[in-house]
Amino acid sequence: MTENILVSVAWPYANSAIHVGNITGSYLPADIFARYQRLKGNRVLVVSGSDAHGTPVTVRADAEELTPLQVYQKYHAGFLELFQKLGLTYDLFTSTHTENHFKVSQSIFLALEKNGCLYTERQLQWYSPAQSRFLPDRYIEGTCYICGYTNARGDQCDQCGSLLDATLLIEPRSKIDGSKPELRETEHFFLDFGRLQPAILDFLRQRESYWRPNVLRQSLGQIQAEDLHGRAITRDLDWGIPVPVEGWQGKCLYVWFEAVIGYLSASVEWAQIHGSPEAWHDWWYDQGARSYYFIGKDNIPFHAIFWPGELIGAGEWFAHLFEGLDGPRLVLPYDVPANEFMNLEGQKISGSRNWAVWGLDFLSRYDPDPLRYYLTANMPESKDTDWDWQDFLNRNNNELVATWGNLANRVLAFAYRHWEGQVPLPGELRPADQAILETVESGFQSVGGHLEAVRLRAALFEAIRLASEVNKYLDQAAPWFEIKRDKNAAATTIYTSLRAHLPGLRPAIVRGAVRRNPPG
Ligand SMILES: [Zn+2]
Repeated sequence: MTENILVSVAWPYANSAIHVGNITGSYLPADIFARYQRLKGNRVLVVSGSDAHGTPVTVRADAEELTPLQVYQKYHAGFLELFQKLGLTYDLFTSTHTENHFKVSQSIFLALEKNGCLYTERQLQWYSPAQSRFLPDRYIEGTCYICGYTNARGDQCDQCGSLLDATLLIEPRSKIDGSKPELRETEHFFLDFGRLQPAILDFLRQRESYWRPNVLRQSLGQIQAEDLHGRAITRDLDWGIPVPVEGWQGKCLYVWFEAVIGYLSASVEWAQIHGSPEAWHDWWYDQGARSYYFIGKDNIPFHAIFWPGELIGAGEWFAHLFEGLDGPRLVLPYDVPANEFMNLEGQKISGSRNWAVWGLDFLSRYDPDPLRYYLTANMPESKDTDWDWQDFLNRNNNELVATWGNLANRVLAFAYRHWEGQVPLPGELRPADQAILETVESGFQSVGGHLEAVRLRAALFEAIRLASEVNKYLDQAAPWFEIKRDKNAAATTIYTSLRAHLPGLRPAIVRGAVRRNPPG
């Protein structure tokens, strides 16, 4: 049965280039998983885009003396170039700075309001008397009130990972000019997590049996915290999506609130581009559809708690407001296989200190396959991993080239040389031939099982193990000796080896693969 699989990939902030830690954290696992689901014959939609709004982009614009629009366009172009060079198979990579995304986000906001999931509250916020403006959380730095780290950001501490309440920071300072801010009152909309808590808890419990333990532990811990209160979804900022309420000019939807809506709005945009504007319903209204969110661990709360909360809260009003439909609920995340971090030679990757292997820089010197291989073999699925250049060389040379590349090369070259590019007709299969074919075919179960459960490293190692088995078979049969005394025996060996590469092999496929000149 064909299933509808939505592959939702993390939205990179359009304020910095992408490094190998980002690639192995979310973009590459999403692509591997999507390719597998397509091979299985499922209907797969892969969406993502640049996160164009919020203070990460405005802070960078100030630093580079550009407008936020110029900053977003510059980094967005770099993302597209990298993803194409790396062979990532997005169905749509858009951005949050589209008319469509504004409309979908504002519809979600209004649906939440209709359903009574929003409230307004006056709150204290840091204000810069020197600049006569409110300072969003990212414009504030200070000492973390949980761990004492002196360079904590207003919204999150990079040392202990805690989400912070900026007003509680110790010794706050403005990131713009270092001046001391003061607290003033401002009014904002809040998403009512107290009210949504039971439904979100239910959502998590239904997924308890198959989510990664770290994702589950962190999400359950946060949702069960004694008094889960609301979270502001608007802010005093002019770069972003306007709050769709009379009298709220000059305020925007908070970027954490609207960026996750991008998975939905990108699906809508994809359907429009492909001339069937309702096609996105198959992934968002069909309750049998499965959606996977590929993200890094710093984004777990946004995808395992906040986004499900938005979807549950917007509920049926969204369809009504957005396209006049009654009834359908929006599909909730099926899995959030968040990855841990990759470090670089023992130290945390840091863009600002330029301690990183940048994706485009790497691809200016090496092919994408060694990168994809190394990042999959070292994927931080259950714990932090480390990029090590010597390990990169060893794995590439000893595994990818020696095991897989060598196998493919010697079998195809041999078949080409002795059978003129045809798959040779085998004699009766001998016990060793049958045994290796059974071993390889069992890989559909073992490799497929790992891929299905998003254990991509295990799937890769199993595939390489099977390739080693075929290498052993080939060394024992030694067709380069067989051919001298019994060409039929060599034909059986090469046929078997080719079938081990391409189970379900039909001669025409392999003829195409080994032909050196294109037909015609
Ligand atoms: Zn801290």
